[in-house]
Amino acid sequence: MEKLRLATCNGGEGKRTVIPVGDVRIGEDFVVIAGPCSVESEAQTLRTATAVKAAGAHMLRGGAFKPRTSPYDFQGLGLQGLKILEKAKRLTGLPVVTEVTDPRDVSWVCEYADVLQIGTRNMQNYSLLKETGKVRTPVLLKRGMYSTLKEWLHCAEYILAEGNPNVILCERGIRTFETHNRNTLDLGIVPSVKEISHLPIVVDPSHGTGRLSIIEPMCLAALAAGADGILIEVHCNPQEALCDRDQAMPPDMFQSLMEKLFHLQRAMTQVERGHIPSSREAPVAIH
Ligand code: PEP
Ligand code: MN
Repeated sequence: MEKLRLATCNGGEGKRTVIPVGDVRIGEDFVVIAGPCSVESEAQTLRTATAVKAAGAHMLRGGAFKPRTSPYDFQGLGLQGLKILEKAKRLTGLPVVTEVTDPRDVSWVCEYADVLQIGTRNMQNYSLLKETGKVRTPVLLKRGMYSTLKEWLHCAEYILAEGNPNVILCERGIRTFETHNRNTLDLGIVPSVKEISHLPIVVDPSHGTGRLSIIEPMCLAALAAGADGILIEVHCNPQEALCDRDQAMPPDMFQSLMEKLFHLQRAMTQVERGHIPSSREAPVAIH
């Protein structure tokens, strides 16, 4: 790719943007954002939020505005959903990541969101990008499902150009000829982003694969690839999820994933320090 002269790029200087949200520093700490695809009810959201908090998640996700492929599918609870997220935040202390789909909603959704999510279908919604650029709330910008890295960075540039420097990129899988999984999770984009941009990048293996059985290995791979965090869909009762049921992770599986991430992170720190553990003195037991 030719050298881009953009505010989103690092000019080859290895500079990094760190975005503090609650107790975490995105771009420095490895951040786990977990919660349901959509806010369906108060009970479902509070139960899920409590479970992900207990397992060690740093932030709570949940959609109140759902951009669905079909207009007849559940569209989200809107303001009522945001109020439920507010309650979940009060209960758990977890900052909230939630999607905004309409430029007219940006300023008031900021009253409920610690991070605004822009979904894959809206990556190139330029009026939405500009509106989120006018606030200071961090924006998690998902990669468009048909977008190149260059197009993605230009969309992030729209937000920065309006004055909001707090952008987190999120790889969520792209459409390719391969249809075995819901999407093709492009983990190679993680070190590529790091090479040319100072923005943090998190990975969403839930939408990136669409299949419960392969979310965990892709979360571990995202960590190993150098991602700044993961975004993952967890539901207290996956069989009843109104949205993205096949990729909804139950809390016990999430708990076990968190333990593995913790161990992998420790092992990686040792490897980075040049200490390659032999199999006999393995620093961690991966359950
Ligand atoms: C979501 O995070 O629930 C979502 C709709 O994601 P995406 O925009 O990546 O499809
Ligand atoms: Mn979803």
